[in-house]
Amino acid sequence: DRYLKGLDKSKKSFSERIRRLALGFSGIDEDFLEELMIVLLEADIGIKTAQKIVDEVETRAMDQKLKTFDQITECLIEVMRDMYCDHEDKPFHKNTEGPTVILMVGVNGSGKTTTTAKLTKRFLEKGNSVALAAADTFRAGAIDQLAVWAQRLGVTCIKGREGGDPSAALVDACRYAKENNIDYLIGDTAGRLQNKANLMKELEKMHRVVSREIPGAPHEVWLVLDATTGQNGISQAQIFLETTNVTGIILTKLDGTAKGGIVIAIRDLLGLPVKYIGLGEKEDDLREFDIDSYLYGMCE
Ligand code: GDP
Repeated sequence: DRYLKGLDKSKKSFSERIRRLALGFSGIDEDFLEELMIVLLEADIGIKTAQKIVDEVETRAMDQKLKTFDQITECLIEVMRDMYCDHEDKPFHKNTEGPTVILMVGVNGSGKTTTTAKLTKRFLEKGNSVALAAADTFRAGAIDQLAVWAQRLGVTCIKGREGGDPSAALVDACRYAKENNIDYLIGDTAGRLQNKANLMKELEKMHRVVSREIPGAPHEVWLVLDATTGQNGISQAQIFLETTNVTGIILTKLDGTAKGGIVIAIRDLLGLPVKYIGLGEKEDDLREFDIDSYLYGMCE
């Protein structure tokens, strides 16, 4: 299955490491728990979350008198699954009164523009109309890059002016979307992290102008994170969370990393759901995130 194939790197290395653990397994003792900790850290789960997982595996193993390595692996998967599922997510809902507005935020290079194109393809395939707002007025070439995608996908792209105010492009795009009964309007925004106060001001303004044009908008704010940046990505994410009302994460470039554990860390530390994962550079390389396929894929 392509879902798992894209994850090959994460999958192979994690399961390889788990198998390596199995070789020296003689029961759940200090040594084993230490080794398990290392495997989790190598998968980029991060020290805090990894410690929580190891503690919980130990507790459950005692309580349930787990003996075999397979039982422990199963228990590990369950612990991570519970950790992921132990949060209430607001379900995504389509705005029935007008366009559903999704803002894409994240630092430059995380994959915002590419992911915007991938989402467009998905929404189109489900029979929706889509319009794009190229509001990344900061990164040189971002606007043209999105316009090229838009043309390829056959949707309208409202272009901002390079160096201009991203909110202006969003307002134009909202009006276009309303007038043309567009189902989804996706706004590709700029991701300057260097200046937190500026970022905050810019994002606040985007929220304000969009909600003035379309009540309830933005309906979703998706933070695009590059999985290959590992724990750094989490610190970046924290800055965005402090500055704007992020409703979900899209984790890109999972095809290029053996560190898939970042999903669990994101969930544990940020509490946000991973909505989609990116598994390549093409418009089809996006999957809806599913924790069970993910974990069993990783550990099989
Ligand atoms: P932006 O600055 O956030 O808009 O980032 P871009 O969309 O331009 O993406 C930066 C680079 O990452 C581009 O070369 C993309 O093709 C690449 N990219 C984006 N998503 C993925 C992914 O899921 N997998 C891989 N391998 N590359 C990706």
